[in-house]
Amino acid sequence: MDALKSLYYVLKPARLPKSVNLHCGVIFHTEEIQQPATFSQLIHFCQQYVSITGKRALCTVMSPENPSIRKQMNQLGVSSDEFAGRLHQLREWADIGYHGHFWKSVDKPFSEPGNQIKAGNFEAADEPGTRAQFKAEMDWFQQNGFTLRSYSAGWWFVNPFLMKLLGENHLVLDFSFSQQPWVNNTWAKNFLASNNIMFGQSFREKTGPVFVQTLMGFTGSNYPMDFVRILNRFLPSQGVVTGMITTHDYNIASARELENTLKVIRLLSTHLNVAFCSEADFLRTSAPIPIE
Ligand SMILES: [Zn+2]
Repeated sequence: MDALKSLYYVLKPARLPKSVNLHCGVIFHTEEIQQPATFSQLIHFCQQYVSITGKRALCTVMSPENPSIRKQMNQLGVSSDEFAGRLHQLREWADIGYHGHFWKSVDKPFSEPGNQIKAGNFEAADEPGTRAQFKAEMDWFQQNGFTLRSYSAGWWFVNPFLMKLLGENHLVLDFSFSQQPWVNNTWAKNFLASNNIMFGQSFREKTGPVFVQTLMGFTGSNYPMDFVRILNRFLPSQGVVTGMITTHDYNIASARELENTLKVIRLLSTHLNVAFCSEADFLRTSAPIPIE
């Protein structure tokens, strides 16, 4: 099978169309700062990413004020100060943002799907708890020396209420929307469609945050061309496509997964029509479409 696939890509290499300019970065939904092994892999990736692209990856982080992270820290004996120390280390190599996961009740198991707040099960009764946790996490980052600008949604939970929280908390960049089939949020997809937002177009409501779409497809595959082949299915025939390539810190926990992910970055860096972007580049150059 492997030999066949290698042969396939020799005969039919996957390349991005020359008529498309891809402006992209890499975002980690960062959920295991408390796990020393995952954390050291993440640092390693971010260092390599800087040396290949000259840019910084974005690590949106679940903080110690998230009840699930707090529980894991207690089990592992990791203090809040240690956690903050690791984030300061990570900041040497990557931009830091916030990754929110919210629960209906902290007294029920965090692994219970019905307890996890998603776009499809969010109710008005969940607003006070979600708002309070969001603020507590943002306060924790601030108190530990991090003034954040970027957000990504856990379980792709984004809706008008969440969009309002971004503004309340002075966040200016969001990476929670996607048009791809792996992202399960009917409201968000309808929102994009009703505002005529196409694949790879950023958008903004009035003076609110800039929303940059997510590009999925990091498979950890041994074949970096798999990523390009999958992305090609969604690309328009021409123009600028802006997006954030999305994965988790725990997806690079093994040496093989980390190396396979770096191979994708190296492959993209050989394309003249790919520009890698750090957080600051997205803020400067994303040219968001204004929506009402
Ligand atoms: Zn997550």
